[in-house]
Amino acid sequence: MKVVHELEPFVEKDSKILILGSIPSVKSREEGFYYMHPQNRFWKVLSLVYQEVLPQTIQDKKAFLKRHQIALYDVLSSCEIEGSKDETIRNEKPNKLRPLLQKSEIARVYTTGRKAYQFYQKYSEKELDLKAIPLPSTSPLNAKMTLQSLQQAYQVLLKSELSTLVEPLLAWYQKEKRHLPWRNTNDPYSIWISEIMLQQTRVEAVKRYYERFLKELPTIASLAMVEEDRLLKLWEGLGYYSRARNLQKAAQILVEKYEGMFPKDYEAVRSLPGVGNYTAGAILSIAFSMPYPAVDGNVFRVLSRFLNVDEDITKPLTRLKMENRIKEVLTPFNAKALNQALMELGALICLPKEKAKCSLCPLQALCKAHQENTVSILPIKPKKKEVPILQKTILLLVFDDTYALLKRPSKGLLAGLYQFPELEGMLSRKEVLIKVREQGLQPLYIEEMPLQKHVFTHQIWEMKGYSIRVTEKNDSYLWVSKEELSSYSIPTAYSYYSPLERKN
Ligand code: SF4
Repeated sequence: MKVVHELEPFVEKDSKILILGSIPSVKSREEGFYYMHPQNRFWKVLSLVYQEVLPQTIQDKKAFLKRHQIALYDVLSSCEIEGSKDETIRNEKPNKLRPLLQKSEIARVYTTGRKAYQFYQKYSEKELDLKAIPLPSTSPLNAKMTLQSLQQAYQVLLKSELSTLVEPLLAWYQKEKRHLPWRNTNDPYSIWISEIMLQQTRVEAVKRYYERFLKELPTIASLAMVEEDRLLKLWEGLGYYSRARNLQKAAQILVEKYEGMFPKDYEAVRSLPGVGNYTAGAILSIAFSMPYPAVDGNVFRVLSRFLNVDEDITKPLTRLKMENRIKEVLTPFNAKALNQALMELGALICLPKEKAKCSLCPLQALCKAHQENTVSILPIKPKKKEVPILQKTILLLVFDDTYALLKRPSKGLLAGLYQFPELEGMLSRKEVLIKVREQGLQPLYIEEMPLQKHVFTHQIWEMKGYSIRVTEKNDSYLWVSKEELSSYSIPTAYSYYSPLERKN
């Protein structure tokens, strides 16, 4: 006989844990809802664990699950049953569980009974990349378990693995946190600016730019209206200029749609240009104490070690699961401090590879990676692809105390910024002189400048520079004085050769 489990899973958007059973016979599925067999103690156990009245009707049961953010489903979708005993089940077909995780906040999976656990391991563990926690069966066949011992075993449902981390981490943060300018404010605009600046840039460097930026552009409206050249000049030295452009686009949306205010709405904030899950969570939790996770690289490192997670952290599903795990312990009362404490621990103590300072860590006694000796290999990331190396020759063309500059195209790397002229490849003095003459310029004097290297995330530039004095200007370039140079946004990659000698 073929049994098809046509029942829909019970899952809600804010379901946090998934309980999976395996339903081997028609009988235990009667009445159209899971675990309705009169002898099954499943609902009794749940009501004891959550200290609630035993739910009676299907409606009561659904309301109970919803209240406690539990999703409930069957590991199998169908099986062939010959006879009535478990051992006779043949040709079982698993249910797809991944969509459940994607449409909810599920971070933990429990299975009830030996069969469900085996089926989960066989069919679903790989799909979800998540280990299930086995719970004993509540079936009357499991007679050796009393109601009381089942209740004890199911008590684990109440406890998030991260709940032990909250108190020691917050106590450490209160004592050890760095006093950074953006930590003295609840203003979402200032927090947003600091978070965007901190992506890819060190804290010490950001401090210098943050205050100058906010002094000149103190409101969302002022950012929305500033000239692009001025904005890029304010961003100069921070690199990754698309961040500045996205800030302005987002500010314009905030002015148009939200009267220049930050909405207290995750989806609205998340949809702004340049704002991902991390930034949306950081702004909403720090500015408005809303319980959204902010998982950046530092937080990933702390969590994957604390929980000893050996999944590839670059996979979106791993990120989702981490975010869901933190959601379990975030509340409006701790969200602001807890998100920042996780980031701070990752920045100061839980450092990459062998640099982790476990002996100074407030979580040492609880940390699974520390116990299992896996600190230096976590988090798991795939090997980085080789980054291409481009060789260039940079020309500092000088005429009468003016320097040749040109504006880069409006699209692509370093779009819209200014650069010194360049030639492909590392050219010799002789080759450079030929190329300069081809541009209609007469060189008077040439001097070689030091080799430089600039590392972008996706390419590396190796550069050789020449300072060349010429007898006249041409129309291909802007010719600007040394004083005027400082008003042009010249990215760091070129500023090594600037007469202003900026090397930030
Ligand atoms: S004990 Fe070590 S590995 Fe674990 S969280 Fe602390 S610093 Fe990180």
